[in-house]
Amino acid sequence: MDARERALRQAHDHAVRWLASLADRRVPARASVDGIVRALGAHLPDGPSPPADVVDLLATACEPGLTAFPSGRFYGFVVGGTEPAALAADWLVSAWDQNCVMRAVSPAYAAVEEIAGAWLLDLLGLPGGSAVGFTTGATMANFTCLAAGRDAVLRRVGRDVARDGLAGGPAVRVVAGEDRHMAVDLALRYLGLGRPELVPADEQGRIDPEALRHALAVGGRRPTIVILQAGDIHSGAFDPFAETIRAAREADAWVHVDGAFGLWAAASPAYAHLTASVAHADSWATDAHKTLNVPYDCGLAVVRDPSALRAAMALHGEYLIHHELGDPVDKVPELSRRGRAFPVWAALRSLGRSGVADLVERLCRHARAFGAGIAGIDGASVLNDVVFTQVCAEFGDDERTDRVLDRLLDDGTAWISGSTWRGRRVLRISVSNWSTTDDDVTRTLDAIRRAAADI
Ligand SMILES: *Cc1c(COP(=O)(O)O)cnc(C)c1O
Repeated sequence: MDARERALRQAHDHAVRWLASLADRRVPARASVDGIVRALGAHLPDGPSPPADVVDLLATACEPGLTAFPSGRFYGFVVGGTEPAALAADWLVSAWDQNCVMRAVSPAYAAVEEIAGAWLLDLLGLPGGSAVGFTTGATMANFTCLAAGRDAVLRRVGRDVARDGLAGGPAVRVVAGEDRHMAVDLALRYLGLGRPELVPADEQGRIDPEALRHALAVGGRRPTIVILQAGDIHSGAFDPFAETIRAAREADAWVHVDGAFGLWAAASPAYAHLTASVAHADSWATDAHKTLNVPYDCGLAVVRDPSALRAAMALHGEYLIHHELGDPVDKVPELSRRGRAFPVWAALRSLGRSGVADLVERLCRHARAFGAGIAGIDGASVLNDVVFTQVCAEFGDDERTDRVLDRLLDDGTAWISGSTWRGRRVLRISVSNWSTTDDDVTRTLDAIRRAAADI
């Protein structure tokens, strides 16, 4: 066995041990940053060390400082776990070390991206023939789609952003619901578009279609982007797409949908009604590292008009250069990049159509169990209509809710984030891990009951 193989075996053994520990380990990290720095040693060694020893040191020293993100009892943010085929494929991605830029250089990657892209459009109910770019996450997927939209609406008034830039050109108006995700604001900032104009949303975070129509009617016709949301991070609610997209179309706006986790509702016959009409938009951002449970990091930027995406992202940015299929690099902001479609293909190939639907339905079933379980706790109330994978609850007042959250973190059975929603502190559960079991839900509800007892 050579040094490389010994290092890989060391990594494999540590990975398998880590994954086996997930079923029962504490979810929050035990060690502090300082503790991990001490365990690793802060000094750069003067000479070389055997790779296997380095991997062993890394894994052993870091283990106490790891949060069990792939645990079935991690419900913070919206993180997925690591579906087995996707995780194993991700190891191959590192070993293969392809720079997934062009068809000619990595035909294997281009083929897999093409297949996975078509499968995703099919599962998410999006128009066939749309371009699918594989980004680092939904933030950059939003960025990518909104770059395509920005350039397209400016092109309609004769401005070529790739050539002339934004300065001195017509302003782009961006309208979003007041409960949009903060990642949307980040993407707009990166794009030089500033803060969006906000339209009121209802108590579940759904944009008000009448208010949107009214907002679009004032101020005359201008280059406009409307941003909608599939899946509110707190309530799980979906914007009413049919009315809002119709209103945006009448204003000749580009319609973008942030559906980081919610877009996956379309993959289940039981939940597809939540995304009805979403396919009439121009672009959609979603994540594969959330609901699909591929390892970090992977987002998906989908644009109905491939030439609009190419105009914004392609290496040769001239509009309507017609290479029949385009290269992977033409659809994302980076040049050199990792083969993110490989794990996505593996997850989809392993789950199959019914497996993706079952996954979505299981996550929603667990969310409902949390909703019902928490509603039965003395002094607790569930604040959202549990329509998808999100549950928000409070425990009397802000102070008590924060105390419950602190106790939960100390308890360590599960990891649940606190948040502020509609002016109140809430405990927010995001169910997004393929491996969460009924037992995980039961143990987590028991931990919440313990944390909420006599406060
Ligand atoms: C998670 C999330 C994002 C950001 O996604 P990243 O993958 O973290 O970049 C954007 N919008 C919504 C609705 C989300 O849930």
